[in-house]
Amino acid sequence: MDTNRFRVRSRSGLDLDAFDPRDTGTSRGGKKKGLKALRTLTEELVELQRVLWAQHEHRLLVVLQGMDTAGKDGTIRHVFGPMNPQGVRVTSFKVPTPIELDHDYLWRIHPAVPGRGEIGIFNRSHYEDVLVVRVHGLIPEDRWRKRYRHIVEFERMLADEGVTILKFFLNISKEEQKARLQARLDNPSKNWKFSSADLSERKLWPLYREAYAEALARTSTRHAPWYVVPSDRKWYRNLVVATVVRDTLASLGMKYPEPSEDLEGIVVE
Ligand code: AMP
Ligand code: MG
Repeated sequence: MDTNRFRVRSRSGLDLDAFDPRDTGTSRGGKKKGLKALRTLTEELVELQRVLWAQHEHRLLVVLQGMDTAGKDGTIRHVFGPMNPQGVRVTSFKVPTPIELDHDYLWRIHPAVPGRGEIGIFNRSHYEDVLVVRVHGLIPEDRWRKRYRHIVEFERMLADEGVTILKFFLNISKEEQKARLQARLDNPSKNWKFSSADLSERKLWPLYREAYAEALARTSTRHAPWYVVPSDRKWYRNLVVATVVRDTLASLGMKYPEPSEDLEGIVVE
């Protein structure tokens, strides 16, 4: 799969409507083939992470953003769930605590950046500080506007120091969100996920789209690219994310470390 068409390139502007949330590619066989491809990909991912962990050199940061019900949790479970949990660290960023609010907005982010050998996954991220903060007018515009530059520079610093960064915007349609919120009301095992705040956020849909379009355009860089992932179909969403992660890990040229001593002639009694 060529994932290049999902990558955000324009620094100047981005038309999010040009990305179809229902897109499932052109290959025939659709879902059945897609699920099979995902199984193969998962095996490759598991092996790549095994080397990443063993080599203890590279670090991968995966940022997941999307509207409520876009599938951030599902993506983590499906794409990263099969990996060795020792080497994967998920951080979910919620409404900042009073202590977090006493600091700059990147203060809580930095400690969650993965160390050598690790995959760090951000379930929401510092991007909330130019999204929800903007949409709700939590701080004046001249303050959040400066953050695009801070974020680009912060991510550049991380990249310069050896962190590989991938950012995914899980793009669902407004209709699909309606169906998923309804399912949270109807299905007892999903009730716990429902929050009436999701309904008030949904009313702000156009403002969020605007905020996302600008944030993605301003912060998609060579060292930390954004991908707009078609996410109405969960299997395709997983396939796209898994493919980008696989391709990226494979491009690092990782290898198992050399043994720390000469193993020749050693006998295990
Ligand atoms: P959930 O992802 O459903 O657990 O919800 C987490 C909530 O925390 C979302 O409504 C986010 O918008 C909110 N949130 C995350 N980061 C921030 C932030 N920096 N400022 C304000 N709200 C935030
Ligand atoms: Mg929620």
